[in-house]
Amino acid sequence: MRRRGPTGGVLGEGCVVTEEPILKLERLQKVFGGKIHAVDGVDLEVRKRETLALVGESGCGKSTVARLALRLTAPTAGTIAFEGRDITKLPQWKLKSIRRRLQFVFQDPYSSLDPRVTAGASITEPMFVHGLVGFGAKRKAKAGELMEKVGLSARHVDQWPRQFSGGQRQRLGIIRAFSVEPHLIVADEPVSALDVSVRSQVINLLQDLQETVGTAYLFISHDMATVKHIADRVAVMYLGRIMETAPKETFFSAPHHPYSQALLSAVPSSHPRRKRQRVVLPGDPPSPAKTPSGCRFHPRCPMAVDRCRNEVPELRAIGKDHQVACHFAAPNPLNVNELLPAGSTATA
Ligand code: SF4
Repeated sequence: MRRRGPTGGVLGEGCVVTEEPILKLERLQKVFGGKIHAVDGVDLEVRKRETLALVGESGCGKSTVARLALRLTAPTAGTIAFEGRDITKLPQWKLKSIRRRLQFVFQDPYSSLDPRVTAGASITEPMFVHGLVGFGAKRKAKAGELMEKVGLSARHVDQWPRQFSGGQRQRLGIIRAFSVEPHLIVADEPVSALDVSVRSQVINLLQDLQETVGTAYLFISHDMATVKHIADRVAVMYLGRIMETAPKETFFSAPHHPYSQALLSAVPSSHPRRKRQRVVLPGDPPSPAKTPSGCRFHPRCPMAVDRCRNEVPELRAIGKDHQVACHFAAPNPLNVNELLPAGSTATA
């Protein structure tokens, strides 16, 4: 049986992750005030219907990547392509046509809804703007329908945002984004402001809606437990650059970059007999206004040598779908054949 999305449209055959990128960032750069390199040469792609988690300590540039991907801020250099179209320099009036397919959910459920607009009017606003719902009673009925999809009562369409709890407000923000059946949602720490008790409900809601609509996520988070639950692939960011990208299973079982290893060492192992050795990094991340030479992780890296201070490591493939920016990252011996042209095999 064919499924229907929040607006009632017939959807495709469920949620199948494909290789095709829906969002492609190339050599993306954002410099604030002429010297703060918040994002510094980021290459990243999100594929159709997948969840790519972007992780890293606070201040590493994750949220700036989110704002750039949404074109809420203009890049200093590099390109942003959405569904194969270069949108880097598209004027705002032309961006309107893609806004329906590119939505967002932000961290703070308290600020994502206008306090002067009722819940029902707020969640149907994107549909109204794109001509998908009419006026008056029709719009109100649609609002009630949407609220029920996220477990809220349709009787509350006329309530003000302040009359809902934090978790309920985030549900409203999520269904507002999903109402127009977007192809990509940029979600910046969407559950980190919520109580632990409602966090898993909201994550499940995000997954259920993704399954129904087939939306891809660029999911920004610093919480590894959430990432492990929701991601298909993981990208690690440090001081404005991508350090590693890998499928979730590879990332959590065999992270290659020393920074990824340190991040994961802080996460308790779910296996009772497999205890992780905690890697404590010295100091705090340096200021993006004063990035270190060579590998920008070198002042904190336990494996750094002279070469690391002088030479920038490029992000390079070390396995299927696995890229690392470290001079010493070697292909996993089990995966070496994945890097060779089709039909050939590695010999000893
Ligand atoms: Fe550490 Fe050097 Fe690798 Fe950077 S390039 S992560 S400093 S070993």
